[in-house]
Amino acid sequence: MTEIAANLERVRAQTAEAAKKSGRSSDEIELVAISKTHEAEKVRAAFDAGQQLFGESRVQEARAKIPLLPSAARWHFVGRLQKNKVRHALPLFELFHSVDSLELAQQMNRIAVEEGSRPRILLEVNVAGEGSKIGFAPDVLSAEMEALLDLPRLTIEGLMTIPPLAPEAEASRRYFIALRELREQLAAEFQMQLPQLSMGMSDDFVVAIEEGATLVRVGTAIFGKRTPLRLRNPAGDFDAT
Ligand SMILES: *Cc1c(COP(=O)(O)O)cnc(C)c1O
Repeated sequence: MTEIAANLERVRAQTAEAAKKSGRSSDEIELVAISKTHEAEKVRAAFDAGQQLFGESRVQEARAKIPLLPSAARWHFVGRLQKNKVRHALPLFELFHSVDSLELAQQMNRIAVEEGSRPRILLEVNVAGEGSKIGFAPDVLSAEMEALLDLPRLTIEGLMTIPPLAPEAEASRRYFIALRELREQLAAEFQMQLPQLSMGMSDDFVVAIEEGATLVRVGTAIFGKRTPLRLRNPAGDFDAT
């Protein structure tokens, strides 16, 4: 068995255990293998080990990599999407986790009209309210939800968050709880379904599952360490390394 296959097996076992512990079915939780910065060959090893869903955070990188993988692989976008990349990105990804402003959502809707597509999205929320400025502040999201719901091409399927970096997984728990509670509040206030909660990465996905995650975004625990993106990506994509 390759190292990647062994890693996947371990992550899946931890997922099943966390689901069981919290009285959930593992079927409710989908693993998004975050393959950013990793070569197609490594992604192929994960695919061969049964992983079909992958996440990328840069459009150019994904455009180069996706054609090298089997067409049965599915792709989610998890990075910061620049408005001028939307047209290229829409056909590549089945779900956008990180829609972080009304302006971006409007742009995606506009391009989707032109291209005849129907993007599925999650709204990224900054539940910590400090440090990182990425994502909707919860009160802003509430104030802008009507406008978001007016974008006919977009399907809003849920919420996503990235908690502040912390030395231990337990530190993320309150942010995961906050995202789940915000989901309940928005669902009631706007009479909408928000079934997906994208939360949890290599260091804290077990805690995220305990708090209701339906999509966990795990990179390092599957593919190993990344070369720090900042060294070669001045645009500043989020990177946890
Ligand atoms: C890179 C990245 C991940 C994966 O992080 P790991 O710590 O390697 O598991 C998850 N989510 C987002 C948004 C990312 O950019």
